[in-house]
Amino acid sequence: MKQYKHLLFDVDDTLLDFDSAELGALPLVCNDYGIPYSEEIRQVYRDINEELWGALEIGRVTRHELLTTRFTRLFETFGYTVNGAEADARYRDYLVVGQQFVPHADEVIRTLSQSQKFDLYIVTNGATDTQHKRLRHAGIHGHFNDIFVSEQTGSQKPMPAFFDYVFERIPQFNANETLIIGDSFGADIVGGHHAGIDTCWLNAKGKEPTVNIPVTYEIDNLRELYTVLNIKQTV
Ligand SMILES: [Mg+2]
Repeated sequence: MKQYKHLLFDVDDTLLDFDSAELGALPLVCNDYGIPYSEEIRQVYRDINEELWGALEIGRVTRHELLTTRFTRLFETFGYTVNGAEADARYRDYLVVGQQFVPHADEVIRTLSQSQKFDLYIVTNGATDTQHKRLRHAGIHGHFNDIFVSEQTGSQKPMPAFFDYVFERIPQFNANETLIIGDSFGADIVGGHHAGIDTCWLNAKGKEPTVNIPVTYEIDNLRELYTVLNIKQTV
């Protein structure tokens, strides 16, 4: 069995349940502006957000534009005018407090950290400040040797530049001893594969791969990492 040293964890839907955080945060933002929350608002928000993240990936908008316009556009759709930057700041504050762990994430991170056999890292696409706050609020921030967020690295998964940035900053980095663990086939698995490291796809919902590339491990819950990493469950 291969012995890994550097473990790179994605955050959203790998360690922290983004859906539940978002589901908690959106009604609170609406409430702040006196806008009645509905499922329709959530759906429109998701559509706008997805479109903007796609546009960011191909360089059509900047991160600043994304963050300052998504709420302006959302509420305009429903006939309200708000300051988009302010609404976004509120949303991100609420995201921090409303989150939950993906099943077993807390236990698995503590166990891996206590085993002292691995260096744990975070590799996530998102806003730097928000991701740090969320990990702190979840009480797991201190288990990671370093935290790499796309806003700070200047590129995002699956881009090779993101992985280059990360690899340059991992002490005694060795690609053969590195494993990325994530739920997104397109970002984590494709990115890891092209960066030349082993991949572990957390595929809790039994999705089909989006492209035909090899996956080193596929798991449907995080406790299966104990087998992959050949360690005992201790907490
Ligand atoms: Mg994810």
